[in-house]
Amino acid sequence: MNDGMNRRDFLKAASLAGVATGIGAQSIVAEGLLVGTKTAAVKPVVISSANGLAATAKAMEMIKNGADALDAVVAGVNIVEDDPNDNSVGYGGLPNEEGVVELDSSVMHGPSGRGGAVAAIRNIKNPSKVAKLVMERSDHVLIVGEGALRFAKSHGFKEEDLLTDESRKLWLEWKEKLSTEDDWLPPHDIESKDIGENLKKWLRVTGTINCNGLDLKGNVSGVTTTSGLAWKIPGRVGDSPILGAGLYVDNSVGAAGSTGRGEANLLSCSSVMIVEYMRQGKGPEEACLMACKRISEQTKMKRLLDDNNRPNFNVNFYAINVKGEFGGASIWSGSRYAVNTGEAQSRIMECAYLYKRSR
Ligand code: ASP
Repeated sequence: MNDGMNRRDFLKAASLAGVATGIGAQSIVAEGLLVGTKTAAVKPVVISSANGLAATAKAMEMIKNGADALDAVVAGVNIVEDDPNDNSVGYGGLPNEEGVVELDSSVMHGPSGRGGAVAAIRNIKNPSKVAKLVMERSDHVLIVGEGALRFAKSHGFKEEDLLTDESRKLWLEWKEKLSTEDDWLPPHDIESKDIGENLKKWLRVTGTINCNGLDLKGNVSGVTTTSGLAWKIPGRVGDSPILGAGLYVDNSVGAAGSTGRGEANLLSCSSVMIVEYMRQGKGPEEACLMACKRISEQTKMKRLLDDNNRPNFNVNFYAINVKGEFGGASIWSGSRYAVNTGEAQSRIMECAYLYKRSR
């Protein structure tokens, strides 16, 4: 087994990721403004994390009907936010250590060069819609916590309990098994002894959706939305709502976003780096892989490294460029992404990776 960066696998995955070529350049007008040089005969594309099959399909359907990429990707991720069975996003998301669901989200709109985000917002099922309103209806870029909730309510959002029964039970199980030293106990009987087991299993529970789209006008936008790390300290903010980290869009280059251990990504601001790598000529997949490498090299704390000095966590990136090329990469093998190029149904693709999991 080769645990190092597997160039052949990487190139194979790169050739699997379809590309659209042969596109001429011309100036286009968006929102009544000349926004720069864009591509003609655009081949639209929508990419997302692997939980976005329905989201990418919805976004592409809207794009094909002429929608702006941001409207399309937000409508796409709303499906996942509303889904009680995806416990990494929106309604049904896994809660913080006190059993309260706190959500993070950001959006970026290429043609207008704007962005908006909310962090640690409670009781609002669709934080991506609120993030979009921060962009459209305030002079701010990021609003957090109580302020974000009040902002959402000012715009008519209704508060609701986001904790589903299933998420509550998972949280309770985590809490009960967390320690043998506290007073919370899982079900046990007269024979039970070690009832604090399973700690490892519950240590890191991650999940998010990032979705980026290129629309028929050649405009690029993206959104990232998440319930963040399960069992986090209340008020913890991950990479998802931080522009440059969990999402970045440049209308002349492309878009990138992430899922996985946000703390690592916050320290490397990988999404903006991926966009910059693409500006320098790298393809989306190679740019994502470069971001993974950067995180790996930047991780120095022993508690975050395995016996071979590789990160003991995963981070995944997804990117598109204005040519309609797309790709994804992760630190560890096994990650996947969803993509829709408008010609067929959304499909799942393997991410390129730095290190191959041994099992
Ligand atoms: N990146 C998200 C965060 O750190 C979590 C995840 O994608 O799993 O909040």
